[in-house]
Amino acid sequence: TNPIHIVGGGLAGSEAAWQVAQGGRTVVLHEMRPVRATDAHHTDGLAELVCSNSFRSDDANGNAVGLLHQEMRSLDSLIMRTADAHQVPAGGALAVDREGFSRAVTAALEEHPNITIVREEVAGLPPEDWGSTILATGPLTSPALAEAVGTLTGRESLAFFDAIAPIVHRDSIDMGKAWFQSRYDKAGPGGTGADYLNCPMDREQYEAFVAALIAGEKTAFKEWEASTPYFDGCLPIEVMAERGPETLRHGPMKPVGLTNPHNPTVKAYAIVQLRQDNALGTLFNMVGFQTKLRHAEQVRVFRTIPGLENAEFARLGGLHRNTYLDSPRLLDATLRLKARPQLRFAGQITGCEGYVESAAVGLMAGRYALAEAEGQTLAPLPPTTALGALIGHITGGHVEAPEEAERNAPRSFQPMNVNFGLFPPLAQMPRNETGKRLRGPEKAALKKRALTDRAREDLAAWMTGERLPHAAE
Ligand code: FAD
Repeated sequence: TNPIHIVGGGLAGSEAAWQVAQGGRTVVLHEMRPVRATDAHHTDGLAELVCSNSFRSDDANGNAVGLLHQEMRSLDSLIMRTADAHQVPAGGALAVDREGFSRAVTAALEEHPNITIVREEVAGLPPEDWGSTILATGPLTSPALAEAVGTLTGRESLAFFDAIAPIVHRDSIDMGKAWFQSRYDKAGPGGTGADYLNCPMDREQYEAFVAALIAGEKTAFKEWEASTPYFDGCLPIEVMAERGPETLRHGPMKPVGLTNPHNPTVKAYAIVQLRQDNALGTLFNMVGFQTKLRHAEQVRVFRTIPGLENAEFARLGGLHRNTYLDSPRLLDATLRLKARPQLRFAGQITGCEGYVESAAVGLMAGRYALAEAEGQTLAPLPPTTALGALIGHITGGHVEAPEEAERNAPRSFQPMNVNFGLFPPLAQMPRNETGKRLRGPEKAALKKRALTDRAREDLAAWMTGERLPHAAE
């Protein structure tokens, strides 16, 4: 039988190789290090962690990434098994001894009878006669391969930098201050005329806000990122603020075409707009707010915006070198490139973010490739699980703003960590024993508990092929 080829032995490629090999199929894993280096890796080990040694929270009852850990463990994840075996103390987080971790992943793959590792750069599209192939070459995909993929997908569908605006959980926005309205009530294709959430500022608030953006501490580009271009249309918000006190008021914060129903007689001096970010309507992104402010500064400064005082952020802003596809348009539900289905993508190049998420997408890409090679079809993952929510975001859950398509603006699919905003809302809000409506932290904790319980039930049913308990929700 033909082996399945996997290009890239990082977090995603290593996990995908393990899944295929454990399923009884042979794998050829092509990894370019040490023949060719990247700007961030320092070793020739597989699954090298290029920066932090943390897999983030390990709390499977209150945290989406903790739940993802648990789901991956139940699907025989090599990355999770190895992380557990190489843990270092880190409170509620799962952190690992990075060298021990990478060495153990490398050994597990080298010793596996179904896996052959070839140390070479795949410097163009994989040859057709390889058949089923998974590309998992990461945010620093080698230029020759990136070039070839860009030619295949169309240049505009492969980004080399992300420009991330913060994303806020809709239910943390104060609707006593914010309101829904599109500028001039314009309803684009698929729009209602009330597609944006608007947060008003008076002059004093605006001036203080601009000053805070300029003074706020920024993250530096890494040396090799120094050539990161600022594209017109996605300049960091603080760079715009530095251009003059009026720049933001005439740019993303312009107050025209909008009337504040909470205060109709007073014209706002500036307005922050948030736009729906996922099909579920649970997440909203801050339009034009891509930024290099440090994360803690973003939370502090953006919570001064009226209506966002208690905002919970599903993702904070950033700007990095990052190779990733416009996956919702390009990939099918099993991560295959629609234009060339023998190619699958996995890991950060699909537009997920983070070590754990990259490995999770690798896990599913491996399982999809394996099922296909065996002539089987995997039932779709329940969207109520962390794995399903993540794959759903990548392959179709993201909504494009109608007027962006009209303006030919830069597409808005941006990398994302797993978070509860990607999960379908609960059919019923949980209540405590007294049956009272809950508020604040108690409500948030019970909601997370209910979401994680629902995910566990649905994943268990999916794994045994049963009808999903929450399919009707
Ligand atoms: P990688 O782990 O990068 O694996 C891709 C592999 O493909 C590499 O081994 C590479 O050598 C190989 N490769 C590339 N091109 C070719 C080719 N043409 N032929 C053969 N092999 C090739 N995430 C976190 O959760 N925490 C962090 O602290 C963190 N810090 C980061 C810091 C930086 C500088 C970067 C760039 C990313 C960071 N990330 C972090 C994000 C991301 O989760 C990691 O990059 C993660 O390793 C991505 O997994 P991956 O498998 O998709 O890619």
